Amino acid sequence: MKTIKFKSFSSGSCGNCYFIGIFHENGKCECGVLVDAGISPRRLKKEMAADGLDYSSFDGILVTHDHFDHIRSLGSYCKHIRKPVWVTEKLGNAMESHHITGEYFHECRHTLNEGWNEIVPGRISARYFAVPHDAAQTLGYAIVLDGYRFVIMTDMGEVPKEAMDLAKQADTVVIESNYDPEMLRNGPYPKELQDRIRSSHGHLSNCQCAAAIAEFAHEGLRNVFLCHLSEHNNTPALAHDCSRPVLEASVRLVPLPRQSASPLFLLGNQ
Ligand SMILES: [Zn+2]
Ligand SMILES: [Zn+2]
Repeated sequence: MKTIKFKSFSSGSCGNCYFIGIFHENGKCECGVLVDAGISPRRLKKEMAADGLDYSSFDGILVTHDHFDHIRSLGSYCKHIRKPVWVTEKLGNAMESHHITGEYFHECRHTLNEGWNEIVPGRISARYFAVPHDAAQTLGYAIVLDGYRFVIMTDMGEVPKEAMDLAKQADTVVIESNYDPEMLRNGPYPKELQDRIRSSHGHLSNCQCAAAIAEFAHEGLRNVFLCHLSEHNNTPALAHDCSRPVLEASVRLVPLPRQSASPLFLLGNQ
């Protein structure tokens, strides 16, 4: 029997980095992927070690988009960790011109095609979908690990139909729950920034997130993790309380911590 485990190392504008992997019943990680590179290699190493993981626990890196909080350390990962970075032509080209991804990105760059891509042949495959956000291209992912279906989508003004369709089949979904509308309105952000966040290419509010969850929730759904919570315009309790009523009590719902790492969550057995 295999187990699927997930960990968030950091989530939000301070930096984003997530891990999902397949574990042997003896507890050893067999393979996995990283989503985004928003924390330093030193911190990644430390947080992984806390759960008995290391760089050999993941086989590739998926990137959601080219905003700083998602790719801040991608250049260092390419230089020091040297794992394949899977990107579409469009996102890859945008990142080639980014000074923070550096010269080593080119050597690690792998092409992510439409449809399913085998990240670890026979074990892990990933498929991207586009979401509306103000970056060169912003992607969510459906990732299948030994048949276990996982979807992650963050930084988006709306949830497109393709994302919804994939989430309707997923065992676990990680979805952005960025802001509470009232806190945003009364908070410290200038009007232009507030408008950007609220726009259809900005971020999902707690209520938009809850509405999306209500739509994709299905019998097989086991876990929902709320990601990219705003530091100034949200609280974990508000995000949780907005989405909790739309889910069956048996579904685990967890707002992910912003700065600190989450536990290594056991998602299910395969
Ligand atoms: Zn972000
Ligand atoms: Zn962004």
